[in-house]
Amino acid sequence: MARMHFKGQAMFRNLSLISVLLLGWALPAPASAEVRIFACEPEWAALAREIGGDKVTAYSATHEKQDPHHIRARPSLIAKIRRADLVFCSGAGLEIGWLPLLMQRGARAKIRPGTPGYFMAAQHVTVREKPAVVDRSMGDVHPDGNPHIHLDPRNILPIARELVKRLSVIDPDNSAVFTANLKKFDKEWGMTLKQWEEEAHDLKNMPIVVHHRSWSYLIGWLGLREIGSLEAKPGIPPTASHLQALLKKAIAAKTRAILRTPYDQAAPSNWLSERTKIPALVLPYTVPRDAKSGTLKILFDDILVKLRQANVHP
Ligand SMILES: [Zn+2]
Repeated sequence: MARMHFKGQAMFRNLSLISVLLLGWALPAPASAEVRIFACEPEWAALAREIGGDKVTAYSATHEKQDPHHIRARPSLIAKIRRADLVFCSGAGLEIGWLPLLMQRGARAKIRPGTPGYFMAAQHVTVREKPAVVDRSMGDVHPDGNPHIHLDPRNILPIARELVKRLSVIDPDNSAVFTANLKKFDKEWGMTLKQWEEEAHDLKNMPIVVHHRSWSYLIGWLGLREIGSLEAKPGIPPTASHLQALLKKAIAAKTRAILRTPYDQAAPSNWLSERTKIPALVLPYTVPRDAKSGTLKILFDDILVKLRQANVHP
């Protein structure tokens, strides 16, 4: 009896070993379980981290000092997109100069256009400045309307909700986690939004000049008054006659600031600033690519502080 018991135990141990080996083959490797997100811009990588938590890894193709209209489709980016489970971009033509090339060279079937893995944020908000008729004379970018949608913080929530839908299809096992993270984010963002709007009340009708129309959504949200754009047409450098006319308008309107992103050329802003004494103001366009300091809340906090300073001390 005792002997049989011993034999039974040995047999059980062998069986366990075999089943562990078999299961090891059958189960996916847990190390690669996170959803790999290829974001075109740091703001979407930041949102993906808020909603995905430790169930995702998010990489941004561009950093905060880089012009998202124009980057090179480098081999390292092709390698990144090749491993992606979700591609998450602004869309509306912002990345037209480089994303299609990356997709063509590296995208797997599950992130091709029309699949849940291909997520263009602009399709889920109301796009501004959509031209009725498009031709080449209108400039070289934005025939689908203004793609700089993240700078209206009210746009972030519908995009976050759509992101949860996409993530839940890609990784259904963690759907409850994504939904819980969204609930938390939704509540906090709603409260912060209210606070920002109260603080920014005095910015209403603040006259500003912009370099490129990167700020249209921010302007719409805060009710700033856009006097003009240094670029007469998007993506095309300003002409001398356009600048002269803008100079007169900017002075007459008592413009408080000339806004540009860290990646816009400084020369047109500085030219206007020297002649009008209106301060040239560089505002952050997006969050830092670095995961620790890159949060959307910090971006809007920073923009509002800088705008209010410019409005008080012209
Ligand atoms: Zn643009």
